[in-house]
Amino acid sequence: MGVRHRLTRLSGSCLAFAVLLTLPVGCGVASARAGATWSAPPSARSATPSAAASTLAGRTVGVSGQLSLGPVAGKVIVIDPGHNGGNVKQPRLMASPVPMGTGDKACDTTGTETNGGYQEAAFTFDVSTRLAALLRAAGAKVIMTRDDDNGVGPCVDQRAAIGNDNHADVAISIHGDGAPTRDHGFHVLEPARVGAPSNAIITQSHRLATLIRDNYRARTGIPPANYIGKDGINTRGDMGGLNLSVVPKVMVECGNMRNAGDAAMMTNATDRQRMAEGFAAGLAAYLTPAG
Ligand SMILES: [Zn+2]
Repeated sequence: MGVRHRLTRLSGSCLAFAVLLTLPVGCGVASARAGATWSAPPSARSATPSAAASTLAGRTVGVSGQLSLGPVAGKVIVIDPGHNGGNVKQPRLMASPVPMGTGDKACDTTGTETNGGYQEAAFTFDVSTRLAALLRAAGAKVIMTRDDDNGVGPCVDQRAAIGNDNHADVAISIHGDGAPTRDHGFHVLEPARVGAPSNAIITQSHRLATLIRDNYRARTGIPPANYIGKDGINTRGDMGGLNLSVVPKVMVECGNMRNAGDAAMMTNATDRQRMAEGFAAGLAAYLTPAG
């Protein structure tokens, strides 16, 4: 349909020096929830998480102090930061149909934002950049589907193709949701068996989804979504970026950007670092040899 896919640049730097690298990370995240509302963990509200944690009546989520990423060394990992900062300027391109595995779908959308105006595209790029730094430092070859937040695209089919063409060992797409304000929490989208190319990676992607969920929850203290999926897992057959992938892949909605508690964390750099650490730990767990 004459759609132009603009890729600003692909990167693939590899710092293959570490077999086992441990990094110190934050600790002591607590979360509290009460019905449809919840309080952001203390890192989003206070510079002294441990002090704030003791004042919260909610459950405390254990966050380990070490991040062991040895298993990612030498692996090809594709990180897909959802949307792009320039998408808003190209509505016709965004609406242009592209293949999505079971038909056609719009190229992409502009993404959502917090009520304070923090764009999903900026959020996903920040978390992805943090994740890439962690993985590269541990010796992974990381490829991002976009290298800045000022461009347009790529379309969702191309985001899947980047993982496929690079024969990624694993791929992860990072997003923030735009649900009603009372909804909160994160969820991991995994591909459904819908007769698309992803049929080849259904089982691996489910294992990946489970490990990403567990490590993200442990590192951030964010609870699984209270409005969609089951215990943080959402199986979807309508996502082109998943349907077209032939390498193990999941998509993560890190939180609901329209919810005050989630937004407090998503706009907080310390929490975004913890999100990246959760993803890194989940990817390392996935890439750990069996047995
Ligand atoms: Zn999104």
